[in-house]
Amino acid sequence: MSETKAKPEDFDWENIGFSYHDLPYRYRAYYKDGQWSEGGLEESSFMSVSEGAQVFHYGQEVFEGLKAYRRKDGGVNLFRPDMNIKRMNKSAARLVMPEFPEDKFIEACRAVVKANQDFVPPYGTGATLYLRPFMFGTTPMVGVKPADDFTLVIFATPVGAYYKGGLAPTAYETGAYDRAAHAGTGQAKTSGNYAASLLPGQNAHKAGFSDVVYLDPRLHENIEELGGANFFGITADGKFQTPKSPSILPSITKKSLLALAPEFGLEPEETVIPVADIDKFTEVGAMGTAAVISPVGSITHNGKKHVFFSETEVGPYTRKLYNRLTAIQFGDEKGPDGWVYDVEL
Ligand SMILES: *Cc1c(COP(=O)(O)O)cnc(C)c1O
Repeated sequence: MSETKAKPEDFDWENIGFSYHDLPYRYRAYYKDGQWSEGGLEESSFMSVSEGAQVFHYGQEVFEGLKAYRRKDGGVNLFRPDMNIKRMNKSAARLVMPEFPEDKFIEACRAVVKANQDFVPPYGTGATLYLRPFMFGTTPMVGVKPADDFTLVIFATPVGAYYKGGLAPTAYETGAYDRAAHAGTGQAKTSGNYAASLLPGQNAHKAGFSDVVYLDPRLHENIEELGGANFFGITADGKFQTPKSPSILPSITKKSLLALAPEFGLEPEETVIPVADIDKFTEVGAMGTAAVISPVGSITHNGKKHVFFSETEVGPYTRKLYNRLTAIQFGDEKGPDGWVYDVEL
């Protein structure tokens, strides 16, 4: 095993993509005998875990994703980390894992950013420092049961602007596979849902699509999710619609855009969205922390391609919503109270 630590001067911030880099520090805390350890920063990216650890066999794992944004004044913002820890604790409850204290989580995120601050990309590059918190069961076992011991890690890696040449629409297709069941783990951010999505995702890529539109697992009639992102559509009569379903992951980007939509005269609505009705949308997009908004130029369903706005140009509402949310995240514009957390460097 060898560790190759990243150095700030290795990065060409305009061209870094979305991949893992081994930074100097990560936070770890350990749960044992019913309580969390104090936790703190550690230098090695490697962890020593038993081959019998629960997570390797029965998948007791939850994760999160959030970003640190370099402001124009050189400071750094986190965006709604309180929502990440609330969601992680909900995911953890579904997987029979312990809660992690909210305040401690936010302080740990700040500590990881501060310790790796030379890796927060410069303002204006669109690049950010991505934080990946995750928790997993470490108790060795072969029988199926919840672990007694858990490790929580928060590591960071710099990631590039999702769209180098600016926002660009991509093509999606509906598929025959499900990623989660209605009473399953779709609302939990857990690795098993992603394991289930690898084959359909690969099939979509091979067919020339950027990802799959998952339909509801019961009837395959309603739109659920776009790969690892939530769906929105804008109707000709000015509604910002996003699916209501028990098997989709409650996206923080979605919650934020639902709150901002009225600023642009759009009526926010969470509702069932039959795939048969998709031609009512004049713009469609995918929402998530990685891309913020990824415009969807077309969806191919049962061999028929449905185009929204344009296959090459981004619609006006999509662009306005994207610009507004990213301006809040990078601290250029003021958003609703409590969305932005300053990191003391
Ligand atoms: C994380 C995730 C999202 C996006 O959530 P954000 O909080 O906006 O990053 C959407 N769908 C799935 C399946 C996810 O795992």
